Amino acid sequence: MAVVAVDFDGTLCKFAFPEIGEVEQIHIEVHEIVRICKRRGDIIILWTCRDDRGGRLYLTEALDFCKAYNIPIDYANGYPNPGWEGFKLGEVIPCRKVSADFYIDDHGVNPIHESSIMKLWKANEEIENLKADVKYLREQLDKCV
Ligand SMILES: [Mg+2]
Repeated sequence: MAVVAVDFDGTLCKFAFPEIGEVEQIHIEVHEIVRICKRRGDIIILWTCRDDRGGRLYLTEALDFCKAYNIPIDYANGYPNPGWEGFKLGEVIPCRKVSADFYIDDHGVNPIHESSIMKLWKANEEIENLKADVKYLREQLDKCV
């Protein structure tokens, strides 16, 4: 069981904030990855800057989108306390930087290693582009040593 944090804008739909973006093939693939994670017992956290402040229900709109597309979300911008002192066990802790084993984000780069979710995406062109970005980043970092 893993905790999977998934971004909304640009990841589950095309970035169009404050509107909800269109859904393209890459987003449909991300939806399916999230469903696969849920089926294997992972906890899914919607991890987004959207909230319901400022006179519009941006977070609720995102959650409604997830419901409409059958994307299983367990928590939004928070996670259950795994047993940390000072918090009630299982209490959902609202947090901007949620703790997760995997983060699925259209702006995410993992310079350390490929995660298993990244391996699932290997055939995707965008991931190939991301790999090229990581290679470039590593080359630049090597030059700094
Ligand atoms: Mg994003």
